[in-house]
Amino acid sequence: MIDLHAHSNMSDGLDSPTELVQNAAKAGVTTLAITDHDTTLGWDEAIIAGRQNQVRIIPGIEVSTRQLIGDNRSISVHILAYLPDPKNLALVQELEKTRLSRIERAKKMVALLAEDYPITWEMVQAQLPEGSTVGRPALADTLVSMGVVPTRSDAFTSILHSHSRYYVSDYSVDTTDAIALIRGAGGVSVIAHPLIDFPAGASMTDLPAEFFKILIGAGLNGIEIEHRSVPKQAKQWLKNLAVKHNLITTGSSDYHGIDGKDNRLGENRTEPAMLQRILDQASGFEVPL
Ligand code: AMP
Ligand code: FE
Ligand code: FE
Ligand code: ZN
Repeated sequence: MIDLHAHSNMSDGLDSPTELVQNAAKAGVTTLAITDHDTTLGWDEAIIAGRQNQVRIIPGIEVSTRQLIGDNRSISVHILAYLPDPKNLALVQELEKTRLSRIERAKKMVALLAEDYPITWEMVQAQLPEGSTVGRPALADTLVSMGVVPTRSDAFTSILHSHSRYYVSDYSVDTTDAIALIRGAGGVSVIAHPLIDFPAGASMTDLPAEFFKILIGAGLNGIEIEHRSVPKQAKQWLKNLAVKHNLITTGSSDYHGIDGKDNRLGENRTEPAMLQRILDQASGFEVPL
């Protein structure tokens, strides 16, 4: 069973990389990609745990990007990068820039939250492993530990959603630049959970063909189609697009830990032939045996 999208506590998952791999093994996952947001920090530990638990590890990154659509609107796009060279300077620098901006942004959100809740940046930091990528889930976990909300999910619904008065956006690289950076580092790029913000009930003709055309033109290698957040009405459209442009298609869980999100390891899977295409197209990193 192949699951190519999962998070550890090196970003916003709740399991350490070792626990993540152990839980994957328990769930029957035989090949697992560790894809923390904007970092490769969990790779080494996951690879060691993979050997101990007979799970093949595909190291990856979920890169936060932003794509301009129209003149002054931009949307957040997550690009999964499989097997890029983790030492590639251009990629390393861009990820570092994103992570630093995420810290500044989280501090700003804490300052806004502090107007209404007794939260401090130190409280947020105290529960994060050294060097892990900071995101809204860390703020959610802090609010849960303070007893403000019962769960992470509740924190998002009531307080941390993107239209909330506490929301601050962060810097992200342009999606097309990210695709080029990933390719330059020998990695394979797959758009994560496409159309996650697509309004329920919107018609197929509203699907942003132009948006995909730009990404494919920039060298996008694949589309994550089987994911619980991809709207059902969009799946066939995305499959047709993949066939037309000879793109890889994947299916994955986007697991964040048992209490991190409802997503369960192995709930969506990738076909072996598609994994093989990723391995064939990647040249940035060879998983050591
Ligand atoms: P950020 O990148 O800091 O804006 O935070 C977005 C992250 O929050 C995503 O990567 C998700 O993993 C997580 N997230 C979004 N919505 C929810 C939710 N309802 N419950 C739990 N986690 C969520
Ligand atoms: Fe996440
Ligand atoms: Fe994502
Ligand atoms: Zn993810």
